[in-house]
Amino acid sequence: MFDVIVVGGGPAGLNAALTLGRQRRRVLVVDSGTYRNEPAEEMHMFLSRDGFPPAELRRLGRQELANYPTVEIREDLVVAVTGTADDFAVELAGGSTERARRLLLASGQADVLPEVDGVAERFGRGVYHCPFCHGFETAGKPLAVLGGDFSHAMLALYVADRFSDDVVLCANGPLEVSEELRAALSDRKIEVREEPVTRVGGVQNALIVHFADGTPLERGAVFHRPVSRQRSDLAASLGCELLPDGCVRVNAMQQTTVAGVYAAGDTARLAELVGPTPFVITAAADGAKAAIWLEQDLFRSSVNVPIPG
Ligand SMILES: Cc1cc2nc3c(=O)[nH]c(=O)nc-3n(C[C@H](O)[C@H](O)[C@H](O)COP(=O)(O)OP(=O)(O)OC[C@H]3O[C@@H](n4cnc5c(N)ncnc54)[C@H](O)[C@@H]3O)c2cc1C
Repeated sequence: MFDVIVVGGGPAGLNAALTLGRQRRRVLVVDSGTYRNEPAEEMHMFLSRDGFPPAELRRLGRQELANYPTVEIREDLVVAVTGTADDFAVELAGGSTERARRLLLASGQADVLPEVDGVAERFGRGVYHCPFCHGFETAGKPLAVLGGDFSHAMLALYVADRFSDDVVLCANGPLEVSEELRAALSDRKIEVREEPVTRVGGVQNALIVHFADGTPLERGAVFHRPVSRQRSDLAASLGCELLPDGCVRVNAMQQTTVAGVYAAGDTARLAELVGPTPFVITAAADGAKAAIWLEQDLFRSSVNVPIPG
């Protein structure tokens, strides 16, 4: 019986395992190894590691965990979980079933890219989802935003406000926003092109957006905010409440609405926030918070003084 099984070995899961390993808890991290920032060669906004390769961060994290004999990491996929607090049964694709008193879901989110040729290959390397992660490096360059809904119009306004005077909103079809938003785009001299985009070509820092009418548009970078979905449906299958955007609802202790099940990182958020804060440092911090409260939960139940509430 493990104290905690952690589903996912990204920054959230690894930092949780570190915190629990230091309290000598028996922890199993099961990781299927499809990380959200896999396509990116550098990560930003992590103090002391700005511009660091994300794969290297994970490698160093695993190396540090090797110092903690009660922590095990297994490359595998959790396919099902049954049971309740104090006795969860976790079924792995590799064939084994492991048991744990508590669960931590740190399984992340997956991005669903638009069906425009060339976007998937360039995602994280010229086509960017997030101005916090990548905006600074695009400053002063001609930029495009690809998408024709409210969130892309707002993204175009944002990158024009922070990074560039030359922003084109490639709506890839009719722009579906209010007159007020259209006026705001026009006020900030953001050109809107509504003809279909057939392909994004070129290389990082020198991309070309190709329109259906054959005209090319040269850009230093393209921003697109993909739809995201849970990487794993375990939270739903356990009956955890999901928020309207699909994130697992957690409280400030990273507890889900199911007893004994915690969640951390991109997979989860507080209902009070208007949206997720999906970053490496926040995922790692969520993992630490979850582990601290998991530890309190395990300890206090062993002395029969449970966490109130
Ligand atoms: C292109 C790109 C660039 C980015 N750049 C930055 C940046 O510069 N700075 C920044 O702060 N953030 C950046 N991000 C965001 C960052 O990637 C995420 O916030 C971070 O990875 C979240 O960590 P996590 O641990 O929650 O999830 P992840 O890192 O996605 O890890 C989740 C892990 O869980 C595993 N898993 C899922 N289901 C199961 C299962 N059933 N069984 C076992 N394992 C499972 C997955 O395979 C994966 O290995 C970027 C994102 C993208 C897409």
